[in-house]
Amino acid sequence: MTSKKLKNNFPIFLENPNLVYLDNSATTQKPKKVLESLMNFYKETNANIHRGSCKIADNATNSYEEVRKKIANFINAKPQEIIFTSGTTDSLNISSEIIYYNALVEENSTIAVPYNAHHSLSLPFRRFFQNQIFYHKADEINSAIDIALITHVSNVTGEITNPNLIDAKIKVLDCAQSINKNLVDVTKLGVDFIAFSAHKMYGPTGIGVLWVKEDILSRCVPTRLGGGIVQKVDKNDLNFLDYPNAYESGTPNIAGVIGLGAAIDFLSEINFVQYLNDEITLKKYLLDKLKNFSSLDIFTDDHSPVGIVSVAHKKIHAHDIATYLGSKDICVRAGNHCAQILHNEILKVPATFRVSLALYNDQSDIDKLIEVLEEAIVFFS
Ligand code: PMP
Repeated sequence: MTSKKLKNNFPIFLENPNLVYLDNSATTQKPKKVLESLMNFYKETNANIHRGSCKIADNATNSYEEVRKKIANFINAKPQEIIFTSGTTDSLNISSEIIYYNALVEENSTIAVPYNAHHSLSLPFRRFFQNQIFYHKADEINSAIDIALITHVSNVTGEITNPNLIDAKIKVLDCAQSINKNLVDVTKLGVDFIAFSAHKMYGPTGIGVLWVKEDILSRCVPTRLGGGIVQKVDKNDLNFLDYPNAYESGTPNIAGVIGLGAAIDFLSEINFVQYLNDEITLKKYLLDKLKNFSSLDIFTDDHSPVGIVSVAHKKIHAHDIATYLGSKDICVRAGNHCAQILHNEILKVPATFRVSLALYNDQSDIDKLIEVLEEAIVFFS
């Protein structure tokens, strides 16, 4: 399917025909299928899961558990390894809690954090292992360490890190930007924890996934306690349910899970080999145009197929450019993209504006961006 045809699956583009949406690393737009699944869930089967005794509750439970299988299938995992969370940030926080409270590493363990880590990856771990953190470039780790935090795809430069090249007792992989390119196969990545969000893969906000390797999950106890996760509680003791349900305390985001299932259905119709080739071509088109501006510094990994390109103008602030573009219905993101350390230590600019591509973007989006970018530079010069 061409990007133009694909665009017709996204009601937001029908409602806003002039919208040029190039902020896909922040969140992607939602196809009709996902929107309908949310509406249908609330219309047809809205009930709490796992403890209802009526037909709609059974249906809700079945649909919820079916999505667990779909996700498992999508990333080549086992359904019992899939924990629903509220998003990547939540998944990474829970990972840090599981590792720390289950003493999976020793108190004085060292943690390697890549410079390109999103704050969601680094900060939860800094809380527990404050004095043992060292920052490094992705290819700089050559000796074994205790915990490696790894950014699968950088949300600033699109750089891909192969976790197999890193030697660590425990590896935590942030897949926020790789999941929607279908780059996540847990049998190939050789890691222990994986986090991602539904809203960056054409699904709803407020729902995400934490995958934990069964070897580890089977040895741990949950860290978020509450209703729905215990078999038996008395005044002195408690028994948890089996994983993964023991890790989903309280009423989960049932509608979100259903919407995520619809996003997976949508993605399963995409030819990813073709799509990534198209993204490489579109990224090259974008870079060729941007390189004509001598006033711009461009930060992207040219070798990565992922269309994430951050840009700084030598004189004009990234926020001014993004605001100008935004006033013409062109959406990009400005700032440090929750990667302040990368900006300060490596890119050496306080802020960039970021263009990030998704499967509905095409050359006409880039042409409009470039046209208005030229205008913006003239306006602020
Ligand atoms: N990691 C990376 C690489 C990201 O791009 C993002 C979102 N910008 C996050 C983590 C956090 O994702 P969320 O806000 O969905 O929790």
